[in-house]
Amino acid sequence: MEDQVIVGLEVHCQLDTKSKLFCGCSTDYRSDGPNTHVCPVCLGLPGAMPVLNRKAVEYAIRVAKAFNCSVPEESEFSRKNYFYPDLDKAYQITQYDKPLAEGGYLEIEGDEGGERKIHLTRIHVEEDPGRLVHMGNTERGKYSLVDYNRAGIPLIEIVSEPDMRSPKEARKFLNKLRATLEYLSVFDSEKEGSLRVDANISIKGSERVEVKNITSYKGVEKALNFEITRQKNLLRRGQKVERETRHFLEARGVTQSARSKEQEHDYRYFPEPDLRPLQVQSWLPGIVLPELPDARRERFMAQYGCSLNHARTLTGELKLANFFEQVVKEDPRGLSAPASTWIADTLIGELNYRDMSLDKVEPAAMTGLVRLINADTITDKSGIEVLRVMLDQRLKDEATEAPSAIVARLNLAKTTGDTGAVSTAIEEAITENPKALEDYRAGKAGAQNFLVGQVMKKTRGKADPGELNRLLTEALKKKGA
Ligand SMILES: [Zn+2]
Repeated sequence: MEDQVIVGLEVHCQLDTKSKLFCGCSTDYRSDGPNTHVCPVCLGLPGAMPVLNRKAVEYAIRVAKAFNCSVPEESEFSRKNYFYPDLDKAYQITQYDKPLAEGGYLEIEGDEGGERKIHLTRIHVEEDPGRLVHMGNTERGKYSLVDYNRAGIPLIEIVSEPDMRSPKEARKFLNKLRATLEYLSVFDSEKEGSLRVDANISIKGSERVEVKNITSYKGVEKALNFEITRQKNLLRRGQKVERETRHFLEARGVTQSARSKEQEHDYRYFPEPDLRPLQVQSWLPGIVLPELPDARRERFMAQYGCSLNHARTLTGELKLANFFEQVVKEDPRGLSAPASTWIADTLIGELNYRDMSLDKVEPAAMTGLVRLINADTITDKSGIEVLRVMLDQRLKDEATEAPSAIVARLNLAKTTGDTGAVSTAIEEAITENPKALEDYRAGKAGAQNFLVGQVMKKTRGKADPGELNRLLTEALKKKGA
């Protein structure tokens, strides 16, 4: 039997508040110099008192509610004591035995199709530590600099149960998590370092390994794939998997054992004396949730007739879902079907290929393109050509043309009705490829498709495929085939 893979994730997300968790310092620090967003509170100077940012708590409760967690009467902050240079106070204010929320779940598309529930253990709020910048090369640092701009940024930690069975499911879990947090307007996934993941992974029956501090979405899948192979190889050779903490080295795509001492912590947690316990349940009535990804997916299927796969893709990112609705808004009835295919399949593929953000594309331009295809002005093949020109212009920040202008300039309008041009191309193609005609006569599969390709080339993709096939069949028949 295939070894069963067991994965659980601990995800840290920065809450997108304006100020830090316990002081008024701005969280918009990324483009500023080091140690410019600091004050006595987030620097941990003696006598400074934390004041809780209510917005951060509200955001965290929104998340808890969205994931169906149970929220206790009372929640409490605790001090986690340890020494590390990025932690100015020598303790982190976090939550320990009284987290903000427990239980709950989110649904992902399982590897075997259908929805699968991934259960959550807990969600709690804590402050981010500062950041160390190591100078020198990675093997041997010369010295390190510390930047406390990040110290005190509000985080939520979302801990899952070990419910995932593959790296792919872990990726789907993270995608769903990210989408939901963005729908809730509490998180900005585009900010660098706004999400960090620790992954617990084991092969059923063996010890589990924790891989710390993975900082990218792609990194999670890579780290898990590496660990599964490493652990399976150990077991195959009859060796044991050690229970340990490992670091993921992103650049090399491998995990490496952390020195075992790093695992043996005694944090001496105790309740934070400068903050009162939170009466969390009293906050609940004031929290109203927006439409979330699952509900929007169902709505896209009902309202726009999207297929399940298209609806899943389109609603899997807030920006994409909004983009789709913008594109079809003038004529949902006429545009929904072609727009869902062109956005979910073609546009996303072309954007990924260019490593390009959706922000660069105006919905109106996409509407224009979909209208041309829908009105049968251009073939699908020409549509892709127009789309590529559109995207390249935007990627290079060149002057942009409307899709119809691109069609006119490149002379891409369909030749429907202009059977003369198509017939001429067919005659030429047959004359130039006597072998294909012979093959066709001999009943060889593929000969007609080959000729279709030749004619398409001659008409530069403008021939209507249906019309082309009809004319070609006629021409071949005339030739006694
Ligand atoms: Zn501060």
